[in-house]
Amino acid sequence: MNHENALFSAAFGLQPPYKVIKVDFNIETGELHIHLDYSGGSEFPRPECTASSKVYDAKPRRWRHLNFFEHRTYLHAPVPRVNCLRCGVKTVRVPWSRPESGFTLLFEAIVIMLCQSMPVNAVARMLNVHDTRIWRIGSGITSRRRVRRST
Ligand SMILES: [Zn+2]
Repeated sequence: MNHENALFSAAFGLQPPYKVIKVDFNIETGELHIHLDYSGGSEFPRPECTASSKVYDAKPRRWRHLNFFEHRTYLHAPVPRVNCLRCGVKTVRVPWSRPESGFTLLFEAIVIMLCQSMPVNAVARMLNVHDTRIWRIGSGITSRRRVRRST
């Protein structure tokens, strides 16, 4: 692993078998794209039972992460599926995101925190997010805030 990739792996607190394999900064779009991969032959815990399995197949995915300075930042990684005789073929859980979420956990945490004190559209502007999924996170917080205030 080169020095830059090692630095980003450490910054994300990435655990093996995942590591940063490439960091692309697109100077035209101002976007930072961080590519992760796992080592060949890795085994992953099955989501519904505790045992680990070899990778059955994997699907490339992308998550929005917190900006690095003003730069929109995305994580890219293959998400493996494992085949269990009992449960069938299941997608494994990645440590940096909830299943089906297009955002990293850290990004969601910041959205939730900001939505407690400002409207969702202000949060979207501040974080430079053009992704409608932010409204799903933000509107839950806003309605809970309203309920709290009215009691
Ligand atoms: Zn199973």
